Amino acid sequence: MKILVINAGSSSLKYQLIDMDTESVLAKGLCERIGIDGSNLVHKANGKQTKYVAAMPDHTVAIKMVIDALTDPEVGVVSSLDEIGAIGHRVVGSGEYFSAPTLITKDNLATLKMTFEFAPIHNPANYMGVTACMEAMPGKPNVVVFDTAFHSTMPDEAKLYAIDYQDYLDYKVRRYGAHGTSHKYVSAEAIKYLGKKESKIVTCHLGGGSSVSAVLNGKCVDTSMGFTPLAGVPMGTRSGDIDPSAAKFLAEKKGMTFEETINYLNKKCGVAGVSGVSSDFRDLQAAAEEGNYRAELALNIFAYNVRKYIGAYTVAMGGLDCIVFTAGIGENSSYTRAQICEGLECLGVEFDKEANEVRKDGVNEISKPGSKVKVLVIPTNEELMIARETLALV
Ligand code: ADP
Repeated sequence: MKILVINAGSSSLKYQLIDMDTESVLAKGLCERIGIDGSNLVHKANGKQTKYVAAMPDHTVAIKMVIDALTDPEVGVVSSLDEIGAIGHRVVGSGEYFSAPTLITKDNLATLKMTFEFAPIHNPANYMGVTACMEAMPGKPNVVVFDTAFHSTMPDEAKLYAIDYQDYLDYKVRRYGAHGTSHKYVSAEAIKYLGKKESKIVTCHLGGGSSVSAVLNGKCVDTSMGFTPLAGVPMGTRSGDIDPSAAKFLAEKKGMTFEETINYLNKKCGVAGVSGVSSDFRDLQAAAEEGNYRAELALNIFAYNVRKYIGAYTVAMGGLDCIVFTAGIGENSSYTRAQICEGLECLGVEFDKEANEVRKDGVNEISKPGSKVKVLVIPTNEELMIARETLALV
């Protein structure tokens, strides 16, 4: 079956058409500036890139353009829409309304709208992606795959904040986590590589946003992001964990409203704030190597916090078999991987410096052959995971 994977943003829409018999990408592309002047679609298939410039007043028009590109006799990859079996959609927040990938029906479409308050920037756009597909391709099954779903197996003591329990019940304020599709994908790949489902794995999705998860026997038992992606390890521009009273103190000193303070913690902090250089780890490493103290400090704070989570999750799972690195930093920064892993001998990690410098497709083992804990670099593939989840439901 061929599955169309849609990741709709407020003014953009990314797609991939995946042939699930071979799990290969037949075509992919990006619509930009939806609802804004100058909208365009860049479509890639058969080694060729085509750019269409046309007005896209809304997501429905964008989806129609995607369908036209996919079925175009010149650059298309299917002869008719009948060849597309289903559509899988990325959705960011679920609240407690959904805890697993879900086939969309008339009834639960209304429930999907109720999730907006849990991801007010992303979910309305994700929802538009679903309704646009329903309109443009009537009768095709649509499956929503939530970033939070993989974390729904966390036990209560890991997912609940120590606030008045009634407030949790009334408002559903708790840890939901994010990047779940990525954590699920790389932990499943690690389990395949280790050859055993009974395993204690810490997955480190380190990118623009970063999160760490504890995966026990294939199920998530804890994750570092919280009610929103602001919590956990420091990130490119997000502070990660911070005492809320420190945020209030800063707000008063800097004359920021509550909204502005949250924006400050999301956009002006993290390694960019500490370093004053950049949120990009390539820039930070270059600056640190030239002796920039704040860039080095930012890298150190980041690595230290990831290490703390690895330690905590080892205890949470009662041991550790494997650490997985993925996403932009995890897949590419041998410097940060080394910073995190050197000194983890107490957990049974024997880090292989040479293997860490080698680039490989697929799984790259960067621990020494006899290491009790395996350290793996696994490129993430959220689109393929969404397609797998979609296939499983249709
Ligand atoms: P996002 O979370 O925005 O989807 P990615 O997972 O692609 O992004 O991660 C992007 C980040 O990965 C960049 O901001 C940069 O810090 C880091 N990165 C990408 N390539 C490299 C590299 N070669 N070396 C170090 N860091 C890298």
